Amino acid sequence: MKLSVPKGTKDILSNEMKKYRQIENIFSDVCNNYGYGEITTPVFEFTELFQRGVGETTDVVSKEMYTFLDKGKRSLTLRPEGTAGVVRSYINNGMASLPQPVKLFYMEKMYRYENVQKGRYREFTQIGLEAFGSNNAVIDVEVISLVNVFFEKLGISDLKLMINSIGCKTCRGEYNIKLTEYYKDYIDGLCSDCKVRYTKNPLRLLDCKVDNCQKVASNAPVFIDNLCEECKDDFTLVKQGLENLSIDFTINKTLVRGLDYYTKTVFEFVSDNVGTQGTICAGGRYDNLVELLGGKETPGIGFAMGVERILMELESRDINMVNEVFPKLYIATLGDNAYSFASKLTYELRKQNIFVDIDVTGRSLKAQMKNANKKNARYAIVLGDDEITSNKCKIKNMATGYEEEIFVDDISKTIIENKA
Ligand code: ATP
Ligand code: MG
Repeated sequence: MKLSVPKGTKDILSNEMKKYRQIENIFSDVCNNYGYGEITTPVFEFTELFQRGVGETTDVVSKEMYTFLDKGKRSLTLRPEGTAGVVRSYINNGMASLPQPVKLFYMEKMYRYENVQKGRYREFTQIGLEAFGSNNAVIDVEVISLVNVFFEKLGISDLKLMINSIGCKTCRGEYNIKLTEYYKDYIDGLCSDCKVRYTKNPLRLLDCKVDNCQKVASNAPVFIDNLCEECKDDFTLVKQGLENLSIDFTINKTLVRGLDYYTKTVFEFVSDNVGTQGTICAGGRYDNLVELLGGKETPGIGFAMGVERILMELESRDINMVNEVFPKLYIATLGDNAYSFASKLTYELRKQNIFVDIDVTGRSLKAQMKNANKKNARYAIVLGDDEITSNKCKIKNMATGYEEEIFVDDISKTIIENKA
């Protein structure tokens, strides 16, 4: 039997888990302040949802999905990203009849059969959101500003924001023609993926990470110079909205999402620190996706970010998000009587939301005190038969060593009111 985790997955141990929780708490606070409600969709969905909702020509669908047949011979896939499931849920649950926009956020594990490297795993965590039902560009600005607030709270507000527009149904076709016209002369030198993109999804030619392909892309016709009037106006609104909020951005003319239902605004927050996996947050507008998945025509915008990449970013800057919490009281006991008494007291204090530690392994008194020290307990009390009978015990401040005599009956009060 193989006693290791599968490649690209990891156990998240408690110290690390605290950081995940902290990031999730901050994200959910920010989302709540912006009026987003949380949603969880199934870990697996029908494969077809992702084939249609992410797109057959994407890396995710063509190479990276964990797809399997269940015992009923249904083809299911472990969720590789969050948007498709949330859109399906929006349609299934009739959210179109709610007041729009419907704003939803999620924090979930994702699964992709990736080439594992730093910042790129097979099981990873994304936090993200989707807003449905507004085609007004002001919501694009609002969504980007939310990410900015979140990064500010993490202390990484200097990440680079890149924006671009990839047009709509009206201007995309014409631009694609211009693009393929330009690429015609360079086809032979393109990588094999780009040769496929050239015929199936020209916009994604701009997205290739291979050196030579990037060189070709850098001189390609630029979409924002070829937008229709409506898209041009929307892009101007986005830029003005960001400027109004003093959010710095760079226009990256080759930034794309590259699927037909992605429209207009696309954006990324990138870092120099995360090795080659520099994109921490990727988002954009998808005005055609709800319809493509069987709903009514509904505009949408969303983003997703990788929690592992956020953690790497924080680590590289020595930012520690987690305040360690130590026991307020450690009760050391000697004898069964004292233990019964102390376990009741511990139970009561824990009910009052106080972190109390008590030995449950049968350590000697000396070892219990050592343990209290190691656990960084704020106070320690020793209880034996004498203390119980006389109703008197000593409470020790572990940092200063100062000891004070109190009534055993007053332990709760002293701890709750923090009087020692
Ligand atoms: P990349 O170009 O790095 O492969 P992508 O376009 O596949 O990114 P998205 O699908 O847009 O990424 O996912 C949004 C974010 O999720 C990424 O910017 C990144 O922070 C994170 N992410 C994506 N794939 C992984 C992975 N395999 N491991 C860890 N984080 C990931
Ligand atoms: Mg990828």
